[in-house]
Amino acid sequence: CGIVGYIGTRPAADILMDGLRKLEYRGYDSAGLATVLEGELHCVRAKGKLQNLQDKLDGEENPARLGIGHTRWATHGKPEEYNAHPHRDGSGRLAVVQNGIVENYRELRETLKALGHEFTSDTDTEVVPHLIESHLSQLNLDDTQGRSPLLEATRRACQQLHGAFALAIVSADYPDELVVVRQQAPLVIGFGQGEFFCASDTPAIVPHTRAVLPMENGELASLTPLGVEVYNFAGDRQRKHPITLNWNP
Ligand code: GLU
Repeated sequence: CGIVGYIGTRPAADILMDGLRKLEYRGYDSAGLATVLEGELHCVRAKGKLQNLQDKLDGEENPARLGIGHTRWATHGKPEEYNAHPHRDGSGRLAVVQNGIVENYRELRETLKALGHEFTSDTDTEVVPHLIESHLSQLNLDDTQGRSPLLEATRRACQQLHGAFALAIVSADYPDELVVVRQQAPLVIGFGQGEFFCASDTPAIVPHTRAVLPMENGELASLTPLGVEVYNFAGDRQRKHPITLNWNP
């Protein structure tokens, strides 16, 4: 129900947890974080209150500077830890959070299962990391026209997804990149100094920066330490500039 993401120079987990607290008003039944550190993906999820997730994180030093977080309002699959986001691909190295619904997940799941993919949740969301993984493994790097592999594989996956959703994606194989998608569910990018944010809504971003870019439907973006590149689902680069929010907290 709420998405947050961070890439930058500060420890991501604290920023993500603060962001999720700002999105609590949207309602949720479980929560989770995935961070990327030293070539490994680290995923922690908990049923119930954000405090349950916080309790699992406490006592763990996590200096990762890239990560995504989620509060879930279950639509497909019971509110249990195994259905909580982030969801991962078969390798466990790529993680996705979703706000919304993938309407055609049943067909996609059957197709992926026939290809040998194994699923561990009852959600519509889990097809997304598996689809991205399968596109990544088939990607010809000469054929991405300058788009990063993670964005390109996500773009190809999006062309197969029907529904209303926002996504954030990280991979241990791409430790300097956060990919985000908007299709009929809100997603905002925040521009800081050497750091970037994403969230379902601005309250999670304004403590850090007032420079925001609300994404439009059918857009996806790659956030790296060097900047933000926005594309449409057809793969055309979109020239975008952040706007400055007037915000009186
Ligand atoms: N449809 C997804 C699920 O049930 C995401 C729900 C949400 O937006 O929190 O896991």
